[in-house]
Amino acid sequence: MMLKNKLSAVNDPEGAGLPEYFPFTLDAHVHIFPENIFRSVWKWFDKYGYPIRYRFDTPKLLHFLLSKGIGHIIALQYAHKPGISRGLNRFMAETCKQFPHKITGMATVFPGEEDAADILKEAFDSGLKGVKLHTHVQCFDMNSKDACIIFDICASENMPLVIHAGREPSSPAYLCNPYELCSADKLERILQNFPGLKICVPHLGANEYISYKRLTEKYDNLWLDTAMVLTDYFPGNSPFPLHEMRTDRIMYGSDFPNIPFSWDRELRQIEKAGFSHDTLQKILGKNAAGFFSTV
Ligand SMILES: [Zn+2]
Repeated sequence: MMLKNKLSAVNDPEGAGLPEYFPFTLDAHVHIFPENIFRSVWKWFDKYGYPIRYRFDTPKLLHFLLSKGIGHIIALQYAHKPGISRGLNRFMAETCKQFPHKITGMATVFPGEEDAADILKEAFDSGLKGVKLHTHVQCFDMNSKDACIIFDICASENMPLVIHAGREPSSPAYLCNPYELCSADKLERILQNFPGLKICVPHLGANEYISYKRLTEKYDNLWLDTAMVLTDYFPGNSPFPLHEMRTDRIMYGSDFPNIPFSWDRELRQIEKAGFSHDTLQKILGKNAAGFFSTV
């Protein structure tokens, strides 16, 4: 699903809310940003990716999801350069305070930036509950010393790590080549070296699905989120055999608001998959609630 050409929007109808029989639903992958950064994100996606359907500011997008019946939201952001993490973390902590018990915020840090340890300490003190890294947007080697410093802190503070470690969706417009920086083998080294670190890899590890499936079977410190992968949107992305996965390791995540289709497109695919109530409970909420310690 290399984004060689711009993809188009899908005008699929929006559901009014969650299907009524759905258990407690937590969205484990939601992006918030200060407004100026959102504007650059929209511009980038317009030029190289796909048109983002929900051009909402942060309060509006959080209210939107909660009004649809989402019970809890994991909010993510990433510093794309050194020097901006503190400001983004403050913005995240303030936002969480405005939605008590509804939003869990992840901290950001740029691997290799000065004071990475202090930045994270301050972020955790302000109430943030984990760290989000993005390998090819932040252009770092997952097995470098700079990255290990961050993993060490997360493990010793018992904070979960969300790391975009997959190669897709990729674009020639990225400054770094995801195919050089990202591989399931590199991630496996982190799983081995930091057995006490809880790791979530978004997008079911796209596009190394089989390798990531194996890793979840082999390691007890790896989880995967579903963001955008279950939606049949990307060209050449065949239906995902979620039934064959270790279902205590899968968390529903939407990638909202940076999506070109309706907010519930992925939820409708999960609904169609016909899981038992017990499995639905796990995928839609329980797994993530445990991973992010939201309860
Ligand atoms: Zn995302």
